[in-house]
Amino acid sequence: MKIGIDLGGSHIAIGLVDDNSEIVEKRTYYISEKKNQPIEDYIVDSIVKGINEILDSSSLKIKDITQIGIAAPGSPKDGHIKNAVNLGIEDFNIAQELNKKLSKNQDIPIKVINDGKSAALAEKQIGSLKEFSDCVFLCIGTGIGGACFINNEFLRPKRNAGFEFGHMIIRKDGEMCNCGNKGCFEAYCSKGKFKSKMQELLSIPGYIGAKDLIIKIKENLYNDEVRTLLEEYIDNLAIGISNIINILEPEAISIGGSMSHYEELIFGRTKRKNI
Ligand SMILES: [Zn+2]
Repeated sequence: MKIGIDLGGSHIAIGLVDDNSEIVEKRTYYISEKKNQPIEDYIVDSIVKGINEILDSSSLKIKDITQIGIAAPGSPKDGHIKNAVNLGIEDFNIAQELNKKLSKNQDIPIKVINDGKSAALAEKQIGSLKEFSDCVFLCIGTGIGGACFINNEFLRPKRNAGFEFGHMIIRKDGEMCNCGNKGCFEAYCSKGKFKSKMQELLSIPGYIGAKDLIIKIKENLYNDEVRTLLEEYIDNLAIGISNIINILEPEAISIGGSMSHYEELIFGRTKRKNI
């Protein structure tokens, strides 16, 4: 059995995965529930707690886990989370910290790879991109990550994360991005930006799930400001996607990440845009 961990900007999901790549047991923790402890400690504590709970309820021991895979934002390398700007982590050896707390007797192999890349590999292997040899995966969530396949080959960046579509600049002197530059695709089209702007406009404080926010948006489509915000998001998304198409000529682009919950509001309209 293996453990797969999705470390997002807003949540930590921990799954027990069987030999058929099926998730058989899962726990989720939310970054917003972090109290005053450092983010690194909260992540490690949540993962250890989640794994222990999963092991208990599955009557398994830690020695039954052959591998742990972590999908993390930024440009992770050699068991380290690196440059995860949305989490505020510059460099953290998560593999070492987890092994210290999980197993006293043996090190469990722990791999950390970029979250967008890991979702892309799954889509290519068993999901929406299975049929395409030249394709792009765009992961739109708290930030925007991505990956590219040419001739069925995953283009693996050698040094940093690579294919950082989110930091392609789509507007000179535009909005500030978490990376320090201005006008990045991500500064306009991440789900975080879309949600916070929409919530502000609709006066919705605190947390609201995609399903409820979609209902609110639909109820307010008569409002010019809501429609303009939606149209501006779609315009910017279409600019980013057309840049990717012009450079890479993919047969297909698959959009994943939590923005995919807004599919009915956004993606049909985006496809119809001519840029
Ligand atoms: Zn940026």
